[in-house]
Amino acid sequence: MHYISTRGHAPVLSFEAAMMTGLARDGGLYLPETIPQMTHADIAALAGLPYEEVTARVLAPFMSDAFASDEFRVLIARAYAGFAHTARAPLVQLAPGHFLLELFHGPTLAFKDFAMQLLGQMMQATLARTGHRITIVGATSGDTGSAAMEAFRGLENVDLFILYPQGRVSEVQRRQMTTPTEANVHALAIDGTFDDAQARVKDMFNDFDFRDAVGLAGVNSINIARVLAQVVYYFAAASALGAPGREVDFTVPTGNFGDIFAGLVAKRMGLPIGRLVVATNQNDILHRCLSTGAYRPDGVMPTISPSMDIQVSSNFERALYYAHGADAAATAALMDDLKAGGFTLSQGVRDALAADFASGRASEDETAATITRTLAQTGELLCPHSAVGVHVAEQHLRAGVPMVTLATAHPAKFPDAVQAATGIRPALPPHMAGLYDRPERLTHVPNDLAALETLIHERRRA
Ligand SMILES: *Cc1c(COP(=O)(O)O)cnc(C)c1O
Repeated sequence: MHYISTRGHAPVLSFEAAMMTGLARDGGLYLPETIPQMTHADIAALAGLPYEEVTARVLAPFMSDAFASDEFRVLIARAYAGFAHTARAPLVQLAPGHFLLELFHGPTLAFKDFAMQLLGQMMQATLARTGHRITIVGATSGDTGSAAMEAFRGLENVDLFILYPQGRVSEVQRRQMTTPTEANVHALAIDGTFDDAQARVKDMFNDFDFRDAVGLAGVNSINIARVLAQVVYYFAAASALGAPGREVDFTVPTGNFGDIFAGLVAKRMGLPIGRLVVATNQNDILHRCLSTGAYRPDGVMPTISPSMDIQVSSNFERALYYAHGADAAATAALMDDLKAGGFTLSQGVRDALAADFASGRASEDETAATITRTLAQTGELLCPHSAVGVHVAEQHLRAGVPMVTLATAHPAKFPDAVQAATGIRPALPPHMAGLYDRPERLTHVPNDLAALETLIHERRRA
């Protein structure tokens, strides 16, 4: 399998190279050159298999010969061994026809662990083979950073720097990033928003001297390997609900569009997904764009679902590429317009997006009310992000088509918002006891490319 850039002017890469590269050198995002197909029989055969085996079967065609099949199964087993639930991604029922896919049983309590744990194993195996060293720089709205710390701390060939927006992550998220003691991981609190952090990371990738000098690698969802790992749970959930014999809809709490884009890949592989519903909080640029065609970022408002406080949604570029009929030049032109302030989609492109996506938003009050009501009606304690999803999903239920809402984080990661809505302060699971007592280690950094590059040069182990 070859990987190509959405903007058409970067080298074509193997799976391993695309995984180690992150952002394409033309500023675009890598995609598989073709989407492998799962037949009706292939999908039917997934029923009842362990999550690990579903992972091996769904991902194998994307990797060509990057890993031997036995080796790949060992990496998958290691990636998910630390999850607290044997189903890995259990489905629970909320109401007739409405299901919740709990993606928060990994070590850092958010869905980011599914991809990050596997990415950590695959990168480690690749580095062990080549003897290379890399410097990973990532931007986070809270959960990618903690998942990356957990996946890469203590690794010999990796230095990891995580940029998070100062004061805009939850205390649990911050502590997960600032309390690891290993010398190869660094939490950097940037003066700005998630969009600023993500923009500086992209600037580093576009500074080829810096990029090549430090061996820059990325673990944001600009990394195609991460998105592909997330395709698996769409197959696992749909199969449990009767696919391929039955169509299934999904609602996805969305920020950077990585998780829901994985759903689009699953659909294009042949999984019978009806609608993919984008659920946003009041930072609703994606909902507005899908409803009106106009994409114009303005300020980010802090909300009780901070992992979705985003205006510049990187992976939307991948969906736009497909909606333009895989036209790299048209995609590159849109991204130039975005730099100049925004863009408006043509009717044809809007129709193409509407064939796969619906959308909705939840206000702060609606999010809190959904946490309260869902607890009363089902006993399920939702995190605020999952509550945004449930609120929007309820407006998109269709008779005869099961709806799966992705529960993206554990309520204990956002205890203040959950307590305010329910009076219950969710406890951290036992493996995280002591998180509030450990000393924190972080560096405040300005929103300035040169200063960040200097700091990374100094801190990385040569
Ligand atoms: C990252 C995250 C999201 C948004 O996912 P994207 O792939 O960025 O759209 C939603 N909820 C939680 C809890 C997250 O950590």
